[in-house]
Amino acid sequence: MANYALANAARLIRESRRTIAFTGAGISVESGVPPFRGPGGLWSRYDPAKFEMGAFRRNPAESWVLIKKLFYDEIGKAKPNKAHLALAGLEERGFLQAVITQNIDGLHQKAGSGTVYEYHGTTSSMQCMKCRRHFPTESIGLEKLPPLCPVCGGVLKPDIVFFSEPIPEEVHRQATLEARQCDVCLVVGTTGEVMPACRIPYVAKNSGATIIEINIDESAYTYHTSDYFLQGKAGLLLPELAEQVGTG
Ligand SMILES: [Zn+2]
Repeated sequence: MANYALANAARLIRESRRTIAFTGAGISVESGVPPFRGPGGLWSRYDPAKFEMGAFRRNPAESWVLIKKLFYDEIGKAKPNKAHLALAGLEERGFLQAVITQNIDGLHQKAGSGTVYEYHGTTSSMQCMKCRRHFPTESIGLEKLPPLCPVCGGVLKPDIVFFSEPIPEEVHRQATLEARQCDVCLVVGTTGEVMPACRIPYVAKNSGATIIEINIDESAYTYHTSDYFLQGKAGLLLPELAEQVGTG
């Protein structure tokens, strides 16, 4: 790990007008959240077909058993790690303006990040399939599945983006705007393979931003997009980077 690269990256963040972070599954692995893709990933244990809108509509009770197990029991218990906390600390000190995440685990918010765009939605709220009202998850019990709308009795769906579902328009618009306006974009824990979220760093780059990548392995961004590639664990490198931003 070249220390001067980390020092340079820290200086860029310190001097930037707007810095954003784009994060993926890799940042939550150290919190015990397994990635979805790849060997040993969640999709090797859970059938992704059950998370298609069609399957959900046909048999919401069956889909919900898996949704509860995966998103609320398994992922819901995870705690933010040092990487999430480092980003929250950067924001608190005015060095980071927004986090755009592909994760639905809510760990950025739990760490204290205030401006978070959840590209693939959130488990913290649900929407009625019938009357389209949204409800905070904590107001809805998951003892009986599927959970039903307290107003009209329709089936509730978590506000996570299912396969074959479009990205919520407002989140996409805001995230793209953030990418256009930033001058530094941190890319953390993502291989850059999930469309259309993976475009965010490209939008930033094309708008003139410097891309600082933190990943354990090389990604789709490493050679053609990233200006700095800090290779290693986000839980180690991000706190170090955050510290140097503040002390330089
Ligand atoms: Zn309803």
